[in-house]
Amino acid sequence: MAFESLSDKLQNVFKSLRSKGRLTEADVKTALREVKLALLEADVSFKVVRQFIKSVQERAVGQDVMNGLNPGQMVIKIVNEELVSLMGSETTEIALRPGSEITVIMMAGLQGAGKTTTTAKIAGKLKSKGRKPLLAACDVYRPAAIKQLQINGEKQGVEVFSMGDKQNPVDIAKGAVEYAKSHGFNVVILDTAGRLHVDEDMMQELQNIKTALDVDQTLLVVDAMTGQDAVNVSDMFNQKIGIDGVILTKLDGDTRGGAALSIKATCGKPILFVGMGEKLSDLEQFYPDRMASRILG
Ligand code: GDP
Repeated sequence: MAFESLSDKLQNVFKSLRSKGRLTEADVKTALREVKLALLEADVSFKVVRQFIKSVQERAVGQDVMNGLNPGQMVIKIVNEELVSLMGSETTEIALRPGSEITVIMMAGLQGAGKTTTTAKIAGKLKSKGRKPLLAACDVYRPAAIKQLQINGEKQGVEVFSMGDKQNPVDIAKGAVEYAKSHGFNVVILDTAGRLHVDEDMMQELQNIKTALDVDQTLLVVDAMTGQDAVNVSDMFNQKIGIDGVILTKLDGDTRGGAALSIKATCGKPILFVGMGEKLSDLEQFYPDRMASRILG
């Protein structure tokens, strides 16, 4: 279960805070040192932890807390609020164009992150909201990618547009939008190629698609199990091609969870969804406040 170790550690810190009637500044400092270690061990990036602790400390050693009736509770409340703020506070939805106007969503991510699965999961979500999504198979490099998208599309009852693996991804993407226009679809989701590492060719291809088409949303899929790598990849993609949001997959696994806490603070882009399993229904909207409650237990 994600966050298990972080939750346990934070709960221990808070238990000892709660047991104290009055708090001294030293008590708060000791507690925050332990919170800091717990966050670092959970793979939250160092810069993010430092800023987080600074914010909590500034608020927690304030007069109101120290003189309050229940200082331990106040510190816990502040940690909770700062965690929510770290993750972006608000829930971000995919921005869709109104009515029959076509929204183009480009999915990006490294190979194995869960991009193709997530693409089908999102199509299912949009369909259940009354949208008419079309999936476009733009990954022409990985032999099984088109087939995998078709199988997943079928499971979701969503059509997949493919031109095989001999065409240029830009042409496939354009073809998909044309097809969507003439067949009454109002969302086109482009499943682009994943590579093992971030490389120039990959970025250039994504950039070419963005330039050739009016892409409304670029969503990056990253694997929570890769910890700080997920954060670095998000930052890199955002700098190179500009992303609108992140989908953090495999949060059902035994991840320490640091990526969920670091992505917004590091690259400035929100997490929209989290992947909670291999099934196509295992995609959840990301709620910073619920995630903070889950971490704090
Ligand atoms: P792609 O290479 O990025 O397109 O990745 P795939 O969509 O092929 O997914 C790679 C593997 O991760 C597959 O076995 C998926 O079933 C699995 N996967 C994707 N999302 C999740 C998730 O949220 N949780 C778990 N446990 N597995 C996932």
